[in-house]
Amino acid sequence: MSTPIDGTAVTSLDSGDRGFFGHPWGLSTLFFTEMWERFSYYGMRALLTLYMTSKLVDGGLGFDERYASAIYATYVSSVWYLPLVGGWLADKVLGARRAVLIGGIIIACGHYSMAIDSLPTFYAALVLIALGTGLLKPNISTMVGQLYAPDDKRRDAGFSIFYMGINLGAFISPFVTGFLAQSDFFRRFIARMGLNPAHAWHWGFAAAGVGMTFGVIQYVLGGKRLRGAGLKQEKSATKESTSGFDLITIVLSVVGAVVGAFFGYRYDAGWVSVPFWTVCGYFVGYLGGTTRLLKGDELRRVLVIFILVVFSIIFWMTYEQAGSSMTLFADRLTRTQVFGWSFPSSWFQSVPAVFVILLAPVFAFIWQMMGDRQPSSPAKFSFGLFFAGIAFLVITFAASLTGAGRVSPWWLVVVYFIQTVGELCLSPVGLSTISKLSPVRMVGLMMGVWFLSISIGSYIAGRTTQLFEQGTPQVLTRAFGIFAGITLAAALLLALLTPLIKKMTPRVEVS
Ligand code: GLN
Repeated sequence: MSTPIDGTAVTSLDSGDRGFFGHPWGLSTLFFTEMWERFSYYGMRALLTLYMTSKLVDGGLGFDERYASAIYATYVSSVWYLPLVGGWLADKVLGARRAVLIGGIIIACGHYSMAIDSLPTFYAALVLIALGTGLLKPNISTMVGQLYAPDDKRRDAGFSIFYMGINLGAFISPFVTGFLAQSDFFRRFIARMGLNPAHAWHWGFAAAGVGMTFGVIQYVLGGKRLRGAGLKQEKSATKESTSGFDLITIVLSVVGAVVGAFFGYRYDAGWVSVPFWTVCGYFVGYLGGTTRLLKGDELRRVLVIFILVVFSIIFWMTYEQAGSSMTLFADRLTRTQVFGWSFPSSWFQSVPAVFVILLAPVFAFIWQMMGDRQPSSPAKFSFGLFFAGIAFLVITFAASLTGAGRVSPWWLVVVYFIQTVGELCLSPVGLSTISKLSPVRMVGLMMGVWFLSISIGSYIAGRTTQLFEQGTPQVLTRAFGIFAGITLAAALLLALLTPLIKKMTPRVEVS
């Protein structure tokens, strides 16, 4: 028998496989692979904005905030739309298991490319990491689902454990990469070794690459535990194709892409913003084409999905500012000391992840206790938006205090705490609601729409780095205040729309 990684060994699912916290052993392989992948992603993301905007003498790229925001936005948004291509490639060509392996290797190469101090390797790195993530991220989640037989009750709990892996990686990595890239201690250390201390950033990026390498090694070694998961012949049943391509859909998609590209080039940040706008335009055209003939119940369901997706964009455009405006807020306007001890500003990026780890079990417990009295999915969505809005009210207030100097680190901790409460209301119900609402033959497409909403939200969030071009307390207070206002208004609007949404989808249990 050849190695399972290359897609030949198939063993049937066995509900007696309970080696990993009562779950199949394969979950341990996927848990640690994803943990290391997220370690590399968030470890690098913690530094990215800081590295781009740092002065050349400090080893940074010396980009102005506007350009840095465009690069960052383009990068993070592509990390969320490329999984659409990655999922498709795995289904049609590679199989999920091989896609994860190749994705992991490409990601590691990307981080190592970032470890080199040059502009071409920097851009190449972003492209590689985004492409690799597009291959790895959707397919590793598919494989988690495939570890369980269709009637296995452990599946949801399995995904919760997997989500812990994501956040464990996200929690640990900024400590490592931030220490290497930003701390005086490490800079002095490499200077003593006769190396250039301004290159400390690249040690941080290399650490992200080492993390992904551990992930890949672990994935290969743990391959036999995966049994049949991710093999090409075991395709998931959810990937049914949507209705065939017709001419109008093709025309609308092409027109959408061209208009998007032109708009991005002309009115956003030039060439840098073309990929994102092209994808958005294409998707809008494609969706218009594929949904234009829907009627009755199907049309209502798809409309509800579109409504929820708009709210999802609003949520992520605030939440995803962690790596952009919040990072600069931490670096430039926050005291990075606790109890008289200084720490690197990138460490703040660990805070949301630790709150997810602490709060996720609390939420699971609350929802379980409430049983049938749980709020409906749209209601949970509006709670999510409400907390995101409150978090932004807090940061608005903190920004208004920055005129008198740096503010206490606890402000950001509070902001991240409230945001995480919002995330735990909204994020877990997002995918499951979409899969419940979507007409069966469109599930794959509607999942794509959900990912696209995160992508659009991340793009807008990424662009907020440019607020620091001036960075005055007035500019920041006003901008954060506007985000708070939009998000709170959205929470209210969705709460008002909830009865209507329930009426529009009477036969779907939106709970
Ligand atoms: N933190 C989660 C992850 O990295 C989800 C983030 C998101 O949905 N935007 O997978």
